[in-house]
Amino acid sequence: MHPRISLLVLVSSVAALSAMEERFRFERPVMGTRFVVTCYAADRGVAETAATAAFGIAEEVNAVASDHLPESELSLLASKPVGRPISLSPLLFSLLEHSRRIAEATGGAFDPTLGPLTKLWRQTRDHGQLPDAETLRDARARVGWQNFTLDTGSRTITLLQDHMAFDLGAVAKGYAADLMLESMAENGIRRAIIVAGGEIRLGEPPPSRDGWRVALQTFDRSRPDEVVTLSNAAVSTSGDLYQSVEIEGVRYSHIVSPYTGLGLTRRIAAIVIADEAKFSDPLSTAACVMGPETSGVLKNYPGLRELKLRTPQESEMLIEENHLSNP
Ligand code: AMP
Ligand code: MG
Repeated sequence: MHPRISLLVLVSSVAALSAMEERFRFERPVMGTRFVVTCYAADRGVAETAATAAFGIAEEVNAVASDHLPESELSLLASKPVGRPISLSPLLFSLLEHSRRIAEATGGAFDPTLGPLTKLWRQTRDHGQLPDAETLRDARARVGWQNFTLDTGSRTITLLQDHMAFDLGAVAKGYAADLMLESMAENGIRRAIIVAGGEIRLGEPPPSRDGWRVALQTFDRSRPDEVVTLSNAAVSTSGDLYQSVEIEGVRYSHIVSPYTGLGLTRRIAAIVIADEAKFSDPLSTAACVMGPETSGVLKNYPGLRELKLRTPQESEMLIEENHLSNP
């Protein structure tokens, strides 16, 4: 066959294949939030098999790394002795290794050892009362991302502080979303998007499109600030849109400041676009803690493409502007 003709045949058969692809959407509650897999595939059976495998991965990450399940490998770490190496599963080891790197890069604004303080935040939310000074002091003394070491060769962790508690709530969803997209590709589906609560991981765009349209919401539950078109990327939004508690007129976000031990009171939201969700997820949380003063250093982080911090006023202005220009 003439090379030009064979190329034409190839191009037209790719186009025909894309045209045959249908859109499928699957939803499942995992990690206390809603996970959605949307993808394009030749038939429902193929899409369903791939999505089921992907949700299975999210459930596996949850079973290992949840701080809500008392029997998870992560929760069980809290009862282990200090100063002795403890064997970890490959999954938890990688997650903790990654978390430690992010903690270091953010100067501890993202801290995977915040468990004692996030537990207090949940009690505050449930009882409508802030912890007393002594309880807060005791919890803060048990926190610190430098209070554990990891050994790659033996795949072990050594705890350096009594009564530590890990919380990977600001990284596990993003980490799971990356693995889910990878698994979709292994099952032959590359045009896929994974939504894991506020973390979004995007693969190849839908057929004949530049990318997936993603609505970015920060403070307004009914309207997005803006809509972006992305593919082969990740985007995360952090803030207090869905989770906060108000006590005596002060609003405390579920994002905890390692510096005060309490939820953030400054109203701020962060949007991070990165190569992978295992970066965008924790970096958006950290950016809220760091605020405009110090979050600029994150812009050099490998894999980070864009970081936007927003106040409620800025969000409102953007909604108005974008609404006017996109009727
Ligand atoms: P995200 O929704 O990704 O911003 O993560 C928030 C969750 O991560 C909270 O519900 C806590 O479980 C945990 N968390 C809160 N503050 C921090 C922090 N400064 N560093 C690490 N994890 C945090
Ligand atoms: Mg996060």
